[in-house]
Amino acid sequence: MRILVTGGAGFIGSNFVHHVLDTHENDEIVTLDALTYAGSKANLEGVLDDPRHEFVEGDIRDQELVTDLVADVDAIVNFAAESHVDRSIEGAKPFVSTNVQGTQTLLDAANEVGIDRYLQISTDEVYGQVLDGTFSEDDPLNPRNPYAATKAGADLLANSFQTTHDLPVVISRTSNNFGPRQHAEKLIPKFIQNAAAGEALPVYGDGSNVREWIYVEDNCRALDLVLREGSIGEVYNIGSHAEKTNLEVTEAILDAVGASDDLIEFVEDRAGHDQRYALDTEKIEALGWEPQYSFEEGLERTVDYYLD
Ligand code: NAD
Repeated sequence: MRILVTGGAGFIGSNFVHHVLDTHENDEIVTLDALTYAGSKANLEGVLDDPRHEFVEGDIRDQELVTDLVADVDAIVNFAAESHVDRSIEGAKPFVSTNVQGTQTLLDAANEVGIDRYLQISTDEVYGQVLDGTFSEDDPLNPRNPYAATKAGADLLANSFQTTHDLPVVISRTSNNFGPRQHAEKLIPKFIQNAAAGEALPVYGDGSNVREWIYVEDNCRALDLVLREGSIGEVYNIGSHAEKTNLEVTEAILDAVGASDDLIEFVEDRAGHDQRYALDTEKIEALGWEPQYSFEEGLERTVDYYLD
């Protein structure tokens, strides 16, 4: 299979590129990435010279470029996005532009030239918060921050291309990822680096917000499965059931780095901060997937990576 991976120089996208090239010897990948502040070619070290991999620096909103690239692949996996909630609260415009219009550009190209499979990478945040229980794929979308709203918009658009144009779309919705190659603005890498430097770890509110943490390699295996074996028109939740409060994550990081709890600093809460996300994952499990890393194993690997 020849796959166009957009956003492949970012955190999850680059891990996915490495995963596919490592596990499918006949596959080829074209990585399209605009190299925004969040993307780095260093994340693709080891595959930049691989004859099965081509890196293209460019924007998913560039219709001509995208149509050219899509004409030469069997599948698209769209990771490219503005991905940081805090930045979307400061200004939503780039989020609407890349996450919604960028997705539309890819869908238009796929529809024009034809494609075997289009995987839209989405997030548990599109469901909004859930105080008890879990969200299943059929639950209504109720995004509560601008980032999540643009991701929900992209999901709806992708789904509409499936029902209207018969485009072979599949959507994945994963919980919070952690692991190597994540940008230092995100909670786990930032806290590891602050802890190692003896700097404060700023915890929002009282630290009671709960997230379901999945090690990025487990997510990449699940996405690979959804790409190849997911049913067209379906959504797949991907989660680990490893629920942690932000304070628990912070304490685990301090422990792993060997730093003092005194570095914890409670700061004003994020506006509209969702209290808890949790996913029902029966559907992806029915495809034969389960996570291989516990939170603790994943964190040990992640801490080793960043301290290196
Ligand atoms: P990231 O910010 O690390 O990477 C995004 C990549 O997209 C970067 O390399 C960036 O340069 C690129 N990009 C941004 N705008 C672009 C554009 N207009 N054209 C081409 N490339 C562009 O993000 P991530 O954490 O790896 O997330 C990847 C995807 O997974 C996103 O769609 C995100 O919504 C989704 N997701 C992330 C998580 C998570 O915990 N990180 C969880 C669920 C879903």
